[in-house]
Amino acid sequence: MTRYGLFIDSTKCINCHVCTLSCKDEFVDNDHTPFSVSQPDTGHFWINVIYQQRGGYPNVELSYLPTPCMHCDNPPCMAAYPDAIYKRPDGIVIVDPTVSTDRGIVDSCPYGTIYWNEDLGIGQKCTMCVHRVEEGVGPKCVLGCPVDAIIFGDLDDPNSTVSKMIRERMAEPLHPEWGAEPKVFYIGAPTPTVAGYLMDNSTKLDVEDITVTLTNLLTGETVMAKSDHAGNFRFEGLENGRTYTVRVEAPGYYPRMRLVYVRRDGFRHIGTWRMLPKLFPK
Ligand code: SF4
Ligand code: SF4
Ligand code: SF4
Repeated sequence: MTRYGLFIDSTKCINCHVCTLSCKDEFVDNDHTPFSVSQPDTGHFWINVIYQQRGGYPNVELSYLPTPCMHCDNPPCMAAYPDAIYKRPDGIVIVDPTVSTDRGIVDSCPYGTIYWNEDLGIGQKCTMCVHRVEEGVGPKCVLGCPVDAIIFGDLDDPNSTVSKMIRERMAEPLHPEWGAEPKVFYIGAPTPTVAGYLMDNSTKLDVEDITVTLTNLLTGETVMAKSDHAGNFRFEGLENGRTYTVRVEAPGYYPRMRLVYVRRDGFRHIGTWRMLPKLFPK
């Protein structure tokens, strides 16, 4: 079987929006019946580049997340609107433009990828460029991306580029806990994170290659990381709304420990940790 999907490397994305414009070029004033009718030239972002700023000065992170329809294998939109939304054998999920006339259809997608067309009175979304796929050419946004941040292909073919990228880069879908089984896989999407920087208090130099231990106070689960050449350490893929202990124990230094609560935007940078050298190291 063929089952189409996407691999998106958000670390490559430069927020240029060429993908969004490519989609508009393909769909505005173009009718691709029976899969889609013209996309409005404003207000619709069938692939939306979500901009996220996390943390606070001077430790701020920016990320860009290109977000089309996820063409889910268990789509909540289709469960809510079985007469208006269908899934093709190749996995592409289509909103039928002739019957998607209930405005509530917009809210049936937990990923927020269905848009309302005021002029036509219908819901619309990314079609994975099915009309192009049927002609053997890939989606227009994939073609347009100048840095190849989006890769399209057959997820059921283990030798396809998209399958290899997902496997080798350990890409993951957004919000798998929602149970929709999305077919768009990401690397570099922001996850709840704790980060910090280690500095020798005497020399003011970065402290590299030091083990930092992070423990989830609720579950007791412990993970470790090493500070890099610039003294930075980082733990990703944590849980929001949880308290962690961060502990640094390094030969020649007094140990340090503190509690960190991960919440709000899911990014806690605990700033510079000044490592105090022991006066009489053993
Ligand atoms: S991302 Fe939303 S619109 Fe697309 S298939 Fe999943 S639930 Fe439906
Ligand atoms: S796959 Fe096609 S329809 Fe979907 S966002 Fe990209 S260009 Fe638009
Ligand atoms: S075209 Fe590529 S680099 Fe530009 S915003 Fe879209 S995904 Fe990011």
